[in-house]
Amino acid sequence: MLNKYLKLEQKGNIIAEYIWIDSEGGTRAKARTLPDKGATPKVEELPVWNFDGSSTGQAPGDNSDVYLRPVATFADPFRGSPNILVLAECWNADGTPNKFNYRHDCAKLMEAYADHEPWFGLEQEYTLLDLNNRPYGWPTNGFPAPQGPYYCGVGAGKVVQRDIVDSHYKACLYAGVKIAGTNAEVMPAQWEFQVGPCLGIEMGDHLWMARYLLSRISEDFGAKVSVHPKPIPGDWNGAGLHSNFSTKEMRVEGGMKHIEAAIKKLEARHNEHIAVYGEDNDKRLTGRHETGAIDKFTWGVADRGASVRIPRDVGAKGYGYFEDRRPASNADPYRITGIIMETCFGSLEN
Ligand code: ADP
Ligand code: MN
Ligand code: MN
Ligand code: MN
Ligand code: MN
Repeated sequence: MLNKYLKLEQKGNIIAEYIWIDSEGGTRAKARTLPDKGATPKVEELPVWNFDGSSTGQAPGDNSDVYLRPVATFADPFRGSPNILVLAECWNADGTPNKFNYRHDCAKLMEAYADHEPWFGLEQEYTLLDLNNRPYGWPTNGFPAPQGPYYCGVGAGKVVQRDIVDSHYKACLYAGVKIAGTNAEVMPAQWEFQVGPCLGIEMGDHLWMARYLLSRISEDFGAKVSVHPKPIPGDWNGAGLHSNFSTKEMRVEGGMKHIEAAIKKLEARHNEHIAVYGEDNDKRLTGRHETGAIDKFTWGVADRGASVRIPRDVGAKGYGYFEDRRPASNADPYRITGIIMETCFGSLEN
C-alpha cells in the first residue's frame, strides 16, 4: 500500500524530516515541505524551525518554543530522493543552547583541537523488545538457555529479527551514515552496529542519525529498541557503547606513547568520565560480563575486562587507537567524544 503512494510525484517539493534529541535520550521528528531547487539543500540554506518543548520535557509550558537549527543532512531512505533527513540542534528562545543540546559544547572542543584530527568509532549495542517489553525470542515465563550460542550466531533459536538489522544497515548506507559493521551480541535479542571512523563532531551526528534510523525501522516492524545498559538483571550481558579513539599522532609510527599518555589522562579523570557515560551504568560495569568495575580504572592490551583496551594488533604494531569500554549504550555520543577531547587536550576557557 505504502509503495503506491511513495511513487507519486511531489510537484516541485521536497519533504524535510527534522530530527532532534529529546530530554530522554530518544529522537523526535517532524516533517515540512520545502521547494525543490534541484540540488540537495545545504545545511545553511535550511530554515530554522521550532517545536513545542513543553510536550517533550525540553521547555516550560509558558515559554515553550524550542528552536531547531539544522546541522547535518542525510538522504531519506523512507521517502526516497529528493527528500531529506535534517539533524537539528535545540536552542532556547533566549539564544542559549537547550539543556539537552550536548552537541554545542562538543562542537567547540572539536573545532579547537581539529589539528589533532580526532577519529572516533562507536559500537552501539541495543536490545530488541516486543510491545510487552520482553526481548524477542525469550519465553514468556522463564529464560533462554545460558549465553554462548548467541554472539555472532546463525540459525533459528540463536538470533531474532535479523530483518531489522539488515534493513537498518542498508538504510544507513543509503542515508550516508558511516556505518562500519554489525553483529549479533552475547545476550539473545541483543545486537550491535558500529559507526566510524568519523572525524570530530561527525561522530555524534552519525551515531544519532543511526539511532533515529533504527527506531524508525523498528517501528515498521512493530519492535521496540532498548538502549538500557542492563536490560535484564543477572547473568546476562549488558549493553555498551565502546568508544574507539585516535589522533593523527597515535595513528603513525611511535603512536603508542601518545596512546599511553592519553590513557594516563583518562585515568586521572575516571569519575568525571563515568558521570557522563550514561545512566544506570553501575548495573553494567560490575567487573563481570566483559566489563571493568565502575569504581576502578584499568587498562591493558587485548583485555576485555578493563576500562580501556588497546587492541592486540595495535599493541603489536605500536600505533593505532584505543577503546574506551566504559560508556553505556544509552550515553550521548556528543558527551563521550567531548569529554575525551577535553581530557586529552584541556578544557576551553570562555
Ligand atoms: P570490537 O573488537 O571491540 O568489537 P568493532 O570492530 O566492533 O571492535 O569496532 C571497532 C570500531 O573502531 C569501528 O567503529 C571502527 O570504525 C573503529 N576504528 C577503527 N580504527 C580506528 C581508529 N584508528 N580510530 C578510531 N576508531 C577506529
Ligand atoms: Mn500544532
Ligand atoms: Mn564490537
Ligand atoms: Mn559488542
Ligand atoms: Mn568493543
